[in-house]
Amino acid sequence: TRSRLKDLKGKPTVTKDGATVLLFGNIASPKDAQKVLNFGGTGVGLFRTEFLFMGRTDAPSEEEQYRAYREALEAMAPHPVIIRTLDAGGDKEVPFLKTLIGEEANPFLGLRAIRVCLEYKDIFMTQLRALARASAHGNLKIMLPMVTSLWEVRTAKAMFAEAYLAVRDQGHPVGAHVDMGIMIEVPAAAASARHLAKEVDFFSIGTNDLVQYTLAVDRQNPNLLSWYEPFHPAVIALLETTAQAAHETGIELGMCGEMAGDPLALPILVALGFHELSMSAPRIPWVHDYLLKLSKDRCTELLNRIKEMGSGSAIREELTRFMEEAQ
Ligand code: PEP
Ligand code: MG
Repeated sequence: TRSRLKDLKGKPTVTKDGATVLLFGNIASPKDAQKVLNFGGTGVGLFRTEFLFMGRTDAPSEEEQYRAYREALEAMAPHPVIIRTLDAGGDKEVPFLKTLIGEEANPFLGLRAIRVCLEYKDIFMTQLRALARASAHGNLKIMLPMVTSLWEVRTAKAMFAEAYLAVRDQGHPVGAHVDMGIMIEVPAAAASARHLAKEVDFFSIGTNDLVQYTLAVDRQNPNLLSWYEPFHPAVIALLETTAQAAHETGIELGMCGEMAGDPLALPILVALGFHELSMSAPRIPWVHDYLLKLSKDRCTELLNRIKEMGSGSAIREELTRFMEEAQ
């Protein structure tokens, strides 16, 4: 199996009936980009930039961030790199921000991610300027985490436009165009995706948080493992609402949560018309292998059956049977 999986690298990532799904890797540092290429990934669907902000007592400078983003972009070029703006808070603790914000009773529902960036605009502006400068060195797309409402997207877009024009006027080279997208990982964003889609170039569904917030189950709590169910019918319904909004508006649809790297979920994602799935690099060959055995028509029939099922365990059984039959 190992050598067969290795041989998949460089082959088209397409179903038997011709539906292409791009397979990208998630990274947490520019050093990880090479690993994505080694496993056959053709882009980075999520660059978690928190590593730059963690384990230190101050914010990283524009120059330091610029160098890290540029390194990732150059390593992947001409492939795209989706860089997510700072997603601090909740499970991602950034000590100097915590000092700034103070104690919160419910940090997972607190001032975090895009919220903290819009509250402390100088920190956000530094990152946006670094991103604008890095855009000269590859195929950059910017992604905003934990978006709930339209105003957040509009404010962030206006701030990036300001950063982009400022660095250009100061004589830095910049890319011709930078796509701006959002993570769909708050149930409110999924339920109102129709409105958000009009403001952005792409969606990427963050199932780790979407499952957590939809089911009210802490993603890190070991007591709740059997409650944390990505195949819960409520989650599937939100995936479908989001996918429909993306398709109706004509924007790109991706996924970068753990579900994207779970082969069991793949037929659902193919049926929903995902353009791109981004996962931990070693998962790429496994998903690629299964993708080649699927047909979109059969995945659509399967999804229609699944939508009639009321429990995660029933859906899992159906998906497992489908996988066994495809082998
Ligand atoms: C997610 O929430 O699914 C996601 C991809 O982001 P993170 O795991 O970094 O919160
Ligand atoms: Mg998340």
